[in-house]
Amino acid sequence: MATKKTFISCFVFIASFVVQTVLPAQSDIAEADLEAASAGKWLRIGSTTDGHVTVIPIEVYVSRVLAGEGEPRAGEAAQQALAVAIRTYTLKNTDRHVRDGYDLCDSTHCQVPRPSTPSSRRTAMATVGQVLTYRGEIAEVFYSASCGGRSESAADVWPGADYPYLVSREDDVCERDPAWTAEFSLGDIRLALARVGFEGDRLKDVRVDARNASGRVARLRLSGMRPNVIAGDQFRAAVGAVDLRSTAFAVAKHGATLRFTGHGFGHGVGMCVIGAGRRASRGESARAILAQYYPGLDVTPLAAVAAPIDTLTAAPPPAAAPPAAAAVVAPRASGINVVVPVSSSVTAPDLERMASRAHDDLSKTLGASVLPLMIRLHETLDSFRLATNRPWWVSEVAEGTSIDLAPAAVLAQRGGVEASVRIAVAELLVAGPLDGRPAWVRVGAARYFSRPSAATPASSRTRCPSDAELTLAVSAPAQREAETRAEACFAREIQKTRDWRAVR
Ligand SMILES: [Zn+2]
Ligand SMILES: [Zn+2]
Repeated sequence: MATKKTFISCFVFIASFVVQTVLPAQSDIAEADLEAASAGKWLRIGSTTDGHVTVIPIEVYVSRVLAGEGEPRAGEAAQQALAVAIRTYTLKNTDRHVRDGYDLCDSTHCQVPRPSTPSSRRTAMATVGQVLTYRGEIAEVFYSASCGGRSESAADVWPGADYPYLVSREDDVCERDPAWTAEFSLGDIRLALARVGFEGDRLKDVRVDARNASGRVARLRLSGMRPNVIAGDQFRAAVGAVDLRSTAFAVAKHGATLRFTGHGFGHGVGMCVIGAGRRASRGESARAILAQYYPGLDVTPLAAVAAPIDTLTAAPPPAAAPPAAAAVVAPRASGINVVVPVSSSVTAPDLERMASRAHDDLSKTLGASVLPLMIRLHETLDSFRLATNRPWWVSEVAEGTSIDLAPAAVLAQRGGVEASVRIAVAELLVAGPLDGRPAWVRVGAARYFSRPSAATPASSRTRCPSDAELTLAVSAPAQREAETRAEACFAREIQKTRDWRAVR
């Protein structure tokens, strides 16, 4: 045992500087060894099936995700490159589930872990502590199964996500992959769209309206539905991301059937897992693979990262660790807990005061209360987008008892932080009584009551926005227009009912 330990710590030292190290196949790394190599960094992984939270050391987690997301037959260099990407993604995304009380979930929303294997444990150990950095900080990275010949730029999948190293690039090892096909009836697609908030009795056709630089579908036109446009990746998510394997497709109508023909599997941003395997088998090193899929990023030992990640606490962590670089105000008499970035122009007491004032006013008007509540002012639009899954043009997301706000500087250009706080608090207050109503009723009511002057009621001919117009808008102007119309619709309806709880 003693010799083994010595070997491992020696190895850890070397691996911190060289990504490509080959361990003898017979060396058997146990999860306990990976725990020892985790330097006290632990993670809370939440189950999306039963809510159970597992607390595990970071390197054990990396080995398990590698077993879940990797290509078991791929060469060592590909496994090591993916392990570095997984570790980087993990450390960058530990605040994705702050409101759920854990760091990452165990579904495809974050990463899928499986029981570790001898090979996945060996790979985690061979790359222990290695992360990808951009200008000295842990980088935002993504990976997906197969790019289909050309990777996708992050900005084209997540509007506003602008990373110079997540750009669209050709991938010659994937170019000759055979195309996949999928068929759906127009009726089934209409049902899938209805489930995410589209309205319309008959879907007549689906056509590609715009493609982005990589050739993937940016936007589709849906004749017969409201709204009549949808972003490519939203369409894929609505129809089923397993059957519709990527957005690199063409679509043709045959009678009442739509046939999709495409390439690749997954969003295509960052590393292509299948392509990495092929690169390894033609002799490329882990570093060369990482340089192909993440051009411009450095491989850095975690200990040398400029802004060390301290969201993870020594084992096992207490409940809810505060996110990095955030000032947290402990539960206050007001019942309003806030998290603001250290660098923010709006301080935690400022935000608490605004929210408290909004709650006082609005709860009198509406006769409801939602305390205690949690408000998080995000430091960057990326952090907001990752926490909420909403695009950059959304300013506030209110759900249950928590509110996510876009960065203060962004809100300042959209009517101010306080206006957003008021809208979000109002949304929480009306959510219970208006449960089950269309989205425009809740959104409209929140805006109607949170503003200093009442909106002009919509004319009787104005159609209220469908749920999808509010939640799946394809642009900032479309989002604003739908919200304004929801408010005008609400103003019209409340004139008739006189009781906000009766608007439907
Ligand atoms: Zn998740
Ligand atoms: Zn590829």
